Amino acid sequence: MIDGFVAGKSVTLTKDIKNQKKEFIEKTCTSCKGAGKWINSFNEEDVRECFGCGSAGKVLIGLNVNDERGKPVWERFTKGTVGTIKKTLVTGKFNSYTKPDVNNIEVFVEVGERSFHTKISNLELKE
Ligand SMILES: [Zn+2]
Repeated sequence: MIDGFVAGKSVTLTKDIKNQKKEFIEKTCTSCKGAGKWINSFNEEDVRECFGCGSAGKVLIGLNVNDERGKPVWERFTKGTVGTIKKTLVTGKFNSYTKPDVNNIEVFVEVGERSFHTKISNLELKE
């Protein structure tokens, strides 16, 4: 069920949601400093994908938007809204007994100029 929720896929919202408005800024990945690769410091031939950015070298950071009085700016998205996945983010810590599931993966979805974030359980993949 979690498979397939990757950047670029179209999804449909399955319930009405309310979000604090976010502004996204692109930053250089701090884990790999923009290289997109993880290099084993004990063995330089051991080069792997950077887990911080998925080898993109850049990460998107969402900043909460407040109004001039410092109050959160809310945005509403209705059931049936279709958007494109921009990023997924696992929230929480896991061990061998607890694994990420539909309730602790946040999905950031772009809808034209706007975007929202919600749990996978509130989304349906559009084939
Ligand atoms: Zn990286």
